[in-house]
Formats: sequence, structure tokens, C-alpha cells
Amino acid sequence: MAKKMKCYKCDGKLEKTKENIEVLEGSKVYEETEVFKCNQCGEILMDSDQIKELRKKVDVLKIKRKLGISGNALVLRIPKDLQKFYGLEVEDIVEIIPINKHRFIVEIT
Ligand SMILES: [Zn+2]
Repeated sequence: MAKKMKCYKCDGKLEKTKENIEVLEGSKVYEETEVFKCNQCGEILMDSDQIKELRKKVDVLKIKRKLGISGNALVLRIPKDLQKFYGLEVEDIVEIIPINKHRFIVEIT
């Protein structure tokens, strides 16, 4: 991508910066990643390398887990990588937010 890029909306200057971007549309999962941002209207654009970087970050964190059981409750174990990435510790409080029949979000409070 050229160095002096212009915003297609307002002709403002696009600057390289880091933003929290939704990794997949509708996923409500955000990752801090490098983008181009318009210094006038705030429009965000990504080039193909930046999109690839974002994909990589998501793939690293995607892990299949089998549910366990503790007493009557199901237990979802958090892999070490995720634990480290999010700085989670025992007794941390998280919030479970149902989205639809196939998805819920575990939000770190
Ligand atoms: Zn703009």
C-alpha cells in the first residue's frame, strides 16, 4: 500500500495506527491490530497484509475444547495460551453473555 493514501470518503490522510477491530463481522470479538485510519472522518481501511495479520491472531486463539463436569455443572477449561493472552487467574470473574443458539461470549470483567 502506498505511503500517502487518501480516504475515499473525505480525501483525508490515512495514517497507520492500532485499533480494536471486530475479527469477524458480527462476532463481537475484537483484536487490537494495525490499520489505516482517516485523520478527518475516522474511516478505517486495511490492506491485505493487515487482514492476514488479523486472521493469524484469530486462528492462534481458536481451540476446540471438550466440556467437563464438576458436580452438576459443565466446566469449560481455558487453555494455557488463552489464559496467558488474557491474563486470567483463578477466581477472576467473567461474564457469560448469550448471543444466539450457537454462540455466547465470555467477557472478562
Ligand atoms: Zn475520511
